[in-house]
Amino acid sequence: MKQPLLNAPRTFKGGIHPPDFKSFTEGNSIQMYMDPKMDLVFPMVQHIGAPCKPTVKKGDLVLRGQVIGEAQGYVSVPIHSSVSGKVKDVKPMLHTNGSKVLSVIIENDHQYNEVEGMHKAHDYKNMTKAEILDVIKNAGIVGMGGAGFPAHVKLNPPPDKKIDTIIVNGAECEPFLSSDFRLLIEEPKKVVEGLRIILHMFPEAEGFIAIEDNKPTALSLMSLLTTGEERIHVATLKTKYPQGGEKQLIEAITGREVPSGGLPADAGCIVHNADTVVAIYRAMIEGRPLMRRIVTIAGGAVAKACTFKVRIGTNVQELVEAAGGVVGTPSKIICGGPMMGMAQVSLDIPVLKGTSGILLFNEEQDFMGDETACIRCGKCVGACPIHLMPLMLNRFALDRDWASFEKYHGMDCIECGSCAYVCPAKRHLTQTFKAGKKIIADERRKKAAAAKAAADAKAAAEAKAAEAVPAPAKAEDKAGAAPAGK
Ligand code: SF4
Ligand code: SF4
Repeated sequence: MKQPLLNAPRTFKGGIHPPDFKSFTEGNSIQMYMDPKMDLVFPMVQHIGAPCKPTVKKGDLVLRGQVIGEAQGYVSVPIHSSVSGKVKDVKPMLHTNGSKVLSVIIENDHQYNEVEGMHKAHDYKNMTKAEILDVIKNAGIVGMGGAGFPAHVKLNPPPDKKIDTIIVNGAECEPFLSSDFRLLIEEPKKVVEGLRIILHMFPEAEGFIAIEDNKPTALSLMSLLTTGEERIHVATLKTKYPQGGEKQLIEAITGREVPSGGLPADAGCIVHNADTVVAIYRAMIEGRPLMRRIVTIAGGAVAKACTFKVRIGTNVQELVEAAGGVVGTPSKIICGGPMMGMAQVSLDIPVLKGTSGILLFNEEQDFMGDETACIRCGKCVGACPIHLMPLMLNRFALDRDWASFEKYHGMDCIECGSCAYVCPAKRHLTQTFKAGKKIIADERRKKAAAAKAAADAKAAAEAKAAEAVPAPAKAEDKAGAAPAGK
């Protein structure tokens, strides 16, 4: 029987309550910005996993929906052109991750001619899970909340993981951002149908559309749309940061804890951002690969905060101009939300599959204050949603004591910034954890590569040794070699 609407707001232990600053954007409808003037840039790195390999070269003509970056291996998805036009170049360009990444640059011909075979609807109810996963992979769908994990991989957990809960993440707990909220109220049927497609792949699972209680319009709309649905529930979440973190959502909805170093599937759950679910809907029902995304442009250094629907590859500077341009000199540019987003050195970057927002802060918003000595107040411990000891991890990281950092579960830090937000001493906690995690991860990778090289060398030496040993004579040969007369 369908469960009642999960009205009592659910949440997790820890977390913080920063001002949400959503009033600047939540009331404005999504504006279409679908005819970009500047060249579009498609970096071959837009997901976690192997980067794509360009399938086009300078001078080629491309169509909208054409694969321009080929997936490399299982944990990888293709990249499609979001316009028709001419390939101007294939060269390294500035990426939102701060490095230069091989990218395909396309001059928009503004015709938007499509590749053959687009808009082919799939009758998912008569398809196997493997067939659906193939469509999702070929459509280039990745987690659009920012993590960029290929959706088909998440939807195909190891067979020993019993999945009983699918969560659509509509929390959008980062301040300023309203792209998911606008999507939930402007394209709600696509969210629900996208979830139905996922539930078709997991017949034993229940689906939850999880929304924070500061979005009552989205909650009511979703409840209305899912009335009578046996397997779909609307879950009200307390407005708290980082409520949209996978582990926090799972804790809030199921009461289960994802084990240290584990994945949501270890707790029987799969979590997908609302826009990812709509991308799955579009791939299955509308036959479209992932070529567009919804982006919030906001912050005190933007003339008019807006939420745009744009073609992936669109230049961010152009979008900021479309939002009325810059006011004064931005003191900080962030891709994503203010808590977990990445600081940028330039606006000359493209919108990627995972770009949920671009924030331009003025000096006042960027004020951090000077870092002083830890006063051991313990506020950071109370705020940590993973129940870590940030003050100690900070000490270990500064001492480069990586063994203790690992022992105290520093690798489980989700880099949410809650500890730094509450710290009265303005300790640069999250920064040191990010750096420490990277050093340890690099070290682990090096060790794994060395162990693999040693194992390969050992296997090669054993194979060579086996070749050098003469094969034992066969029984009949021995018989044939027996002296005559015996
Ligand atoms: S909140 Fe800051 S000052 Fe307080 S214990 Fe944590 S690191 Fe130290
Ligand atoms: S940044 Fe890491 S240590 Fe700090 S509160 Fe978030 S999860 Fe805990």
